[in-house]
Amino acid sequence: MNPVASGSNASDPQEVSPIAALDGNAIAGTLIAVFDTELTTAIGACASCGRRSRMREFAVYLRGPGTVVRCRHCAAVVMVIVEAHGVSCVDLQGLLALEPAA
Ligand SMILES: [Zn+2]
Repeated sequence: MNPVASGSNASDPQEVSPIAALDGNAIAGTLIAVFDTELTTAIGACASCGRRSRMREFAVYLRGPGTVVRCRHCAAVVMVIVEAHGVSCVDLQGLLALEPAA
């Protein structure tokens, strides 16, 4: 009868990933390797919600089969980077725009 008993949420479905997100600085080297330029201070616009923020401010997940970059505002995937056989494949469908830092 304790409303704050721990463990009461153990069976609740969890939509939020339990994996802690890193920030865009975690893929600074990858971005340079792929785009041949420093992009952590570049402004990226989310194609889903339109929110503009610096690349280093996006949420980065490195634990998947590839690197996934998500918008911190709406959680949409803005970039996926997969490396296979020495070639980096980049999916930018979720990125509306990418502008160099002023
Ligand atoms: Zn968004």
